Amino acid sequence: MLAKQGIQEKSGIGKPITIGFVIILGMMIAMTAIALHFGAKANTRLHMVVENQNVKTHLATTIQTALEQRALSMHAASIMTNSVEKTAEKRRFDEYDAAYMRARDRLEQMPLSAEEKSILADMRQLTKSARPDLEAVMDLALSGQQEAMLNKLRASVMPKQRRVVEQADAFIRLQQMQADAALHNADATYARIKKLMLTLTVFTVSLGLLITYIVSRRVSKQGRQLTLQAKYDALTSLPNRLMLVEGLAQKIADTKCNDAAFAVVLMDLDRFKDVNDTLGHEFGDVLLKEVGRRLAETVRPDDIIARLGGDEFVVVLNGMTQQGVAQIAEKMIVALEQPFRIEQQSIDVSASLGITLFPDHGQTPSTLLREADIAMYVAKRSGGGYTIYAPEQEKMSREDLSLKSELREAIHDNQLVLYFQPKIDHQRHCVMGVEALVRWMHPQRGFMAPDLFIPLAEQAGLIGALTRWVLKTALQQLADFHAQGQRLSMAVNLSACNLHDAELIDSIISLLQETHVPPQYLVLEITEGAVMSSPKDGIRNLHRLDAAGITLAIDDFGTGYSSLAYLKQLPVDELKIDKSFVMNMYNDDNDAVIVRSTIDLAHNLGLKVTAEGVENRDTWEILTLLGCDTSQGYFMSKPQPAESLARWLAESPWSIGKPSAYPDQVFWLSVQSA
Ligand code: C2E
Ligand code: CA
Ligand code: CA
Repeated sequence: MLAKQGIQEKSGIGKPITIGFVIILGMMIAMTAIALHFGAKANTRLHMVVENQNVKTHLATTIQTALEQRALSMHAASIMTNSVEKTAEKRRFDEYDAAYMRARDRLEQMPLSAEEKSILADMRQLTKSARPDLEAVMDLALSGQQEAMLNKLRASVMPKQRRVVEQADAFIRLQQMQADAALHNADATYARIKKLMLTLTVFTVSLGLLITYIVSRRVSKQGRQLTLQAKYDALTSLPNRLMLVEGLAQKIADTKCNDAAFAVVLMDLDRFKDVNDTLGHEFGDVLLKEVGRRLAETVRPDDIIARLGGDEFVVVLNGMTQQGVAQIAEKMIVALEQPFRIEQQSIDVSASLGITLFPDHGQTPSTLLREADIAMYVAKRSGGGYTIYAPEQEKMSREDLSLKSELREAIHDNQLVLYFQPKIDHQRHCVMGVEALVRWMHPQRGFMAPDLFIPLAEQAGLIGALTRWVLKTALQQLADFHAQGQRLSMAVNLSACNLHDAELIDSIISLLQETHVPPQYLVLEITEGAVMSSPKDGIRNLHRLDAAGITLAIDDFGTGYSSLAYLKQLPVDELKIDKSFVMNMYNDDNDAVIVRSTIDLAHNLGLKVTAEGVENRDTWEILTLLGCDTSQGYFMSKPQPAESLARWLAESPWSIGKPSAYPDQVFWLSVQSA
């Protein structure tokens, strides 16, 4: 859940980053465009102003020059004697005059300010008023009346001409001033653009920094979260394997300096899968959390508790000796033995613990964990509790490996043997069937009990072949019994995995046909856990077996979490009460109560009841009083090979079925040793 969230957040951060940087990029483009636009506008304006000013200044200067040249022409004409020269001079005078007029006209056509207009109007006015005097002066000059000409020139023409020149000067100065003003304006515009650019840059950089800050904060938050997810178990919030290995490595490094020992306890819950399958994964999750909490209560705060996954927990106990760790392990077992109350249900849990000690057993986290695992495996195999690691155990687990490979051959080489344990009817005191129990006559190791190799067969995927062999052999034996007139039933044990094997179900049905055994004489025993954990296909196979007329029994009843009401919905005919309740029922009231209520409930639901583990006469008699249908146990007979069973069937009072004739308690011993 957390991991998923992390991934979502991780993918979500890309969007704001992209948006942020698109905004920054957009702003930078906009900024550049604005700056370029205003700059270009200011430039054009300045360019136009300067161009106009240049033209105007040029024209004003032309006016001044033309006027000066015109005055000079007048003087020259007055002092000339030659008439041809005078005429030429007059022509020059006219040219200058025309040049002046042209320049002034052009100026007037240009875009002008009010001030310029007024100067030019003055100029025109002055020229116009000076025109008659000017013509008179020129006439005097041409006619050679120099004296009169000079007088008139000084008196009336020159002052006006000077004023026109002054006006032209004023016009040129005005141009200068306007150019200065335009430049000043342009400067101001540039300054404004600069300011704008600066503001935008500051804004963009701040935005960039803000985005960077936000992004880096989120990234580091996610980083922290990912680290947490990588190192902690999401369900229990306990350190996970990664963190545990780191912690162990650290401890080993520390311990090398201060010489303190510590212990690694690997704990695996027993039959947790049944809890999960029967009560649901959510229930299982709550249970695991509770287990984590209880463990935390039994150890010191500075000890490490980690969850390796599934139902495996590891506790690292500081400063531990072999004795100390045994005490803590007991404490942990006791803590877990108290029933858990979850969702108004009470549930019993047990665990198997494997213990390894640093530095005695291993020097690295991986060796310590591996050894703890081996020790746990040994504890589990011997029925729970705790086991401290010993090097010989390595050999045991290696042996398991080689056993697995030998088992394949054993099935084909007839190294397997069936033993049969009689099932006695309480009413008639008479044998009514047998249970087939497999053994392995190993060429080197000798006689091996099924508990030693059935789990290996299941792990190695050989259980299908093994069960097929057992069924075939048992049904052949049953056909023999029937041929000899012994109408017994034959019980065969099925493994949980067998229930999902549709081919096996087919071959059971065809084996019955081949051996001509009526199907009701075959009893298939399925453990309570296997039935409860069986998904749809398993249940479907049960119905197929039932439809074929085969008798179905629930084995080891009372050890799982099943309810009778649920079992009743299944096509089951018989319940076998687990021997752990039966064996002590004659002196343990609790067990007796469990057995009695199981018998009553089963009968109410129309099921037959078999008690297993009847080891003495008291138990047999109590069971008879409680109305139990059939029983198995060492009191009547141990499981025995076919030949000795044949003798037992011929001689045993149980097989003859005399109600009062209890057999001698040691009878079966003599049978066994035979
Ligand atoms: P189970 O089905 O509960 O079989 C009964 C076990 O209790 C047998 O152990 C039997 O020898 C033992 N037993 C019978 N009476 C007494 C008694 O009075 N006191 C005590 N203490 N024990 C008694 P066994 O033969 O060692 O089988 C152990 C388990 O191995 C069986 O338990 C069954 O689950 C499994 N098993 C045996 N044969 C097969 C097989 O062919 N296929 C499969 N899948 N499992 C098998
Ligand atoms: Ca059985
Ligand atoms: Ca059993």
